[in-house]
Formats: sequence, C-alpha cells, structure tokens
Amino acid sequence: MTEYQVDVLVAGAGPVGLLAAWQLARRGLSVRLVDAATGPATTSRALATHARSLEIYDQLGMLGDIAPHGTRVNGFIRHQGDRATRANYDFGDLVTRFPYMFNIDQVITERVLHGHTASAGIEVEWNTRLESFQQDAEGVTVMLRSGGEVAEPETVRARYLWGCDGGHSTVRKLLQLPLEGESAATWLTADAIVHTNLERDTIHSLSSPSGALMMFPFPDPGKWRLLDTSGEGELEQPEQIARQFSAKLSQALGRETVVDTPTWTAKFTIQQRAVPAMHVGRCFVSGDAAHVHSPAGGQGLNTGVQDAYNLAWKLAMVLHGQADAVLLDSYDAERVPVGQALLASTGTVTNSAMAGTTPTDAQTSDRSFIRQLIWNASGLSIAYSDSPLTVPDDEPGKGPRPGQRLTQISAADAQSPGWMVLRALLRTSAWHLLVFAGSAQPADQDQASAVTMSLPAWVEKVTISRRRLDEADHGVWDSDGRVQETLAANDGDWILVRPDGYLSARDTGNTRLCEALDRLTSLHV
Ligand SMILES: Cc1cc2nc3c(=O)[nH]c(=O)nc-3n(C[C@H](O)[C@H](O)[C@H](O)COP(=O)(O)OP(=O)(O)OC[C@H]3O[C@@H](n4cnc5c(N)ncnc54)[C@H](O)[C@@H]3O)c2cc1C
Repeated sequence: MTEYQVDVLVAGAGPVGLLAAWQLARRGLSVRLVDAATGPATTSRALATHARSLEIYDQLGMLGDIAPHGTRVNGFIRHQGDRATRANYDFGDLVTRFPYMFNIDQVITERVLHGHTASAGIEVEWNTRLESFQQDAEGVTVMLRSGGEVAEPETVRARYLWGCDGGHSTVRKLLQLPLEGESAATWLTADAIVHTNLERDTIHSLSSPSGALMMFPFPDPGKWRLLDTSGEGELEQPEQIARQFSAKLSQALGRETVVDTPTWTAKFTIQQRAVPAMHVGRCFVSGDAAHVHSPAGGQGLNTGVQDAYNLAWKLAMVLHGQADAVLLDSYDAERVPVGQALLASTGTVTNSAMAGTTPTDAQTSDRSFIRQLIWNASGLSIAYSDSPLTVPDDEPGKGPRPGQRLTQISAADAQSPGWMVLRALLRTSAWHLLVFAGSAQPADQDQASAVTMSLPAWVEKVTISRRRLDEADHGVWDSDGRVQETLAANDGDWILVRPDGYLSARDTGNTRLCEALDRLTSLHV
C-alpha cells in the first residue's frame, strides 16, 4: 500500500495556487502549498478583474475583502486625433450584478487570498522549489528542495499534484505538455502618477507615431498603468521612461501631460500560448502554467481563478470517494476550450491595441467592436453546454440554461430578500438542488420530494417558496418572487447547480430529475 503524506501538493503560491489550496482545504483535504520564491510577489501585474471573477469572489465570500481596495472601470475611450469614442460597459443579455471591470493591484488580491488560505489552515512554504516528480497509478512522488541548491531534497508522496507554477511551469514541462502558440511584440508598461484631467473611470487607448498607448486607472489618486506597444525605453532609467511617456501622451492628447517617475516598470514579450491538455494522470496544470496571453486583454489571473475554481471541487469529490476519477476528465473538457478561445480573443485585443485602430473608422462600428471586446473579457459568456456534466435542454427556454452560470441577475435583484438568502446558501461547497414550491405549502407542492428523499449526500436540497418557510426548512423565502422570476422557473420546477455555480440540469417533475441524477451518478460513485 502506498503511504501518502498529503492529498494534494500544490506547486506555486501565486493567485491560482492560493485559491486552489484554499478551496481544497475548506473541503477537508490535506494540502501542501510550496513556492520557490522567498515571499509574496510585490509587483502590481494584474489590474483588471472581470465580472465573472467578481461573481466567483462573491460566492467564495471574499468580495468584501477586495471591494475597498479597487476602482470601477465603467467604459473604454479611444482617442483618435480630436475624436474620443466612448463605449460604456454594457453587457446586454449577459446580465450580471457587476456590469463593470474592477481594477485592483494583484498584490492586494494575493494578500486577500493568502489570508483565506491561512484561515483554512494552509501556510505557504516559501523558498521551496518543486524540482521533479514521478507519478504512478496510485500517486505522485514529488522532489522538493528548500533553502537553495545546497539543501537536502525532500521527497513527498501525494495523491495528486497540482501545478500552479506560472508561465515557466516545471510541472508542465515535466509532463511534456507543449505550450502551443506564438510570441508577438515586446511592450513596455509603467505604473505612474499622470497629471491629467482624463476621466478616471475608463480605459484610454491613444495613438502615437511610434505605436499605440493605453492607460488603465488605479484606485490611488492620479495613478495609472501605462502601456506602450512600441516597447521603447530602458527599464534601468525610470526618469527617462517618465519623460518618454510625457512626450508621447502630450502629443497623442494635444496638450501637455506630465508623467511622474514610475513606481514600477516592466517589459514583456506577448505570448499567446496554451496547452492542448490540462492534466496527465494524477497531475494537473492551471493558470499561467496552462495558458499565457497578452496582458492587453487582462485575462491571465481571471482565467486562472476560474481554472482553480473548476478543478478544486472535482478533486475533493474524488478524494472523498463521492465520485469516480473519471470526473476529473471534465476539467480538461471544460477548461481547455476556454484557454484556446482566449488565444483568439486576446489576440484581437492585442492587434487592435498595436494598430491603435479598429477595423473601421465608422464611430458606431468602433463602439460595437469595443463592446464585443468588453463582453469577451468579462468571462460572463463562458458556459459548459457540451460538458459531460451538463444535461442538455430538450426545449430551451428562458432563464439560465444547463451549462450556464446561475446568477444571471442584476445588482438590484441580488439585493432582493430571496436572492440574499440563496446567495448565502450557495456559498457552501455542495451541489444544490433548487426546488420551486411556488405559493403552496412546500411539502404539498414539492413534486420532486420522492426523489429528493434519496439524494446523494453531496447534494443539498433548497426549497424556494413564495410562502414563509419554517425555521427547520432549508430553503429560501422568495417573498417578492424575484428568485423564481429571474430563474424563469415554474412551480414544481427544479434546477441542479454545481458547486462552482453552473447549472448542470433543469426541468420539472420526478422523471426528469431521476434521469438527470442517473446521468450524473453514472459519473459519480
Ligand atoms: C504587466 C502585466 C499585466 C497583467 N495584467 C493582467 C490583468 O489585468 N488581468 C489579469 O487577469 N491578468 C493580468 N496579468 C497576468 C497575471 O499577472 C498572471 O496571469 C497571474 O499572475 C497568473 O497567476 P498564476 O498563479 O498562474 O502564476 P504566477 O502568478 O506566475 O505564480 C506562480 C508561482 O509559482 C512559483 N513557482 C514557479 N516555479 C516553481 C517551482 N518549480 N516550484 C515551486 N514554485 C514555483 C512562482 O514563484 C510564483 O509564485 C498581467 C501580467 C503582467 C506581467
């Protein structure tokens, strides 16, 4: 028999590794989280947090921790000569309670994640590098080295290995997963105070003779993330970079614009690459270890967070004996296409930023092009309709459909009495079966009750009723009917929701629920 020291070894304590370790630990698994660096990263990097990530942060209960430290971005302005075209954040049919982008320094996001990981009992083991590993049918033997080359290596036996070790991932390389794609131009970025009266709630895109420029607001007064697609400038000379940005911005805006010495400068070659598979046997990769994109789309951290959120509950179910290991195949089925699709969408943003123009100069097309970019970046349209965990709709109707996220609600609806309670209930790490009892007594109208008596232990039933519920009922008093209406549910309907907030199935009556559960339990033990 194999002796395991830990359920999951997570390599890399960037945002993705921190979220992964936290989510495994809160589900009762033993986890080690190691990182080769001597401590947390101190540079701002990811600024843009998109709507779907905010929904996830809300479900994780960490939104309140980051909300005071960021700033809303409500629009995008493209400056071309004297013309400035503004497109406001408007997601159309993609209803969300976060119809904006939220700019927050990655250092703060990581600090918040670190706090939750520590509260779940996981301390990051800094200065500890994963050097190599070998896997077999029962587990993974990982070689770690702490404290530099001269230190003795440590061997750890884990049931699973999760590589969240960034763009140069050792786990990915040792798994021989190719990072397929291409490299494009090298860009320069700088964080600095800019003396300007430009609107602070938008991204600005500008043209200069040497290439396009972009400006992203920080929450700190006067501070911007500046991007120069020409890549010109010496990183060792921040004052020169300040003068260069001052000159280029003054020219692009047609008025004197002074940039102070940056607090951070970096150059990076844009990579547009993704792996064709995100797990091999008992080893997984997530985040930058699996896909790297142009920062222009602001997708790296956001997509990595979604990866970790997708895989953690699946690993937990398998390790708790609630599901067969075949469930883990759905991680690839669901997340590889997302990584691949991002190569195309972030490539479009990059090309557009490089050119400083959109495909047409017509103002209306300009707006619709920008709007499409915003929609793609939001992550709201990501759905797992073709996943083996999704029971397809026979007759698609209104409301969220199988494969889509459940919380397609406005900020006002999110504050309705029923949604407040339901959102709180969805924060547990279980599957949820929402059963709509309507205005009748829940017990009378609960058509699915015969089936729900024998629900698997990993499914929590939530009755949604227009009548006040007894305290003992695990349910939602939907006093104003907003939950039922926004979910387009009829009395007697049910909705099966995954732990990561996506619908697996929905319908009405016992028969269809039995079919849905049969289908899922054939994937689960
Ligand atoms: C200028 C810039 C702007 C960006 N803007 C955005 C944005 O607006 N929005 C967005 O979503 N993303 C953005 N990104 C991308 C974002 O920063 C990354 O996608 C994100 O950090 C990826 O997180 P991660 O946890 O996968 O990897 P990382 O943050 O790279 O963390 C990986 C960790 O693994 C550790 N490690 C590496 N090798 C080993 C090993 N062998 N053993 C143990 N530990 C190891 C490293 O020390 C590191 O701590 C930007 C990036 C840059 C550079």
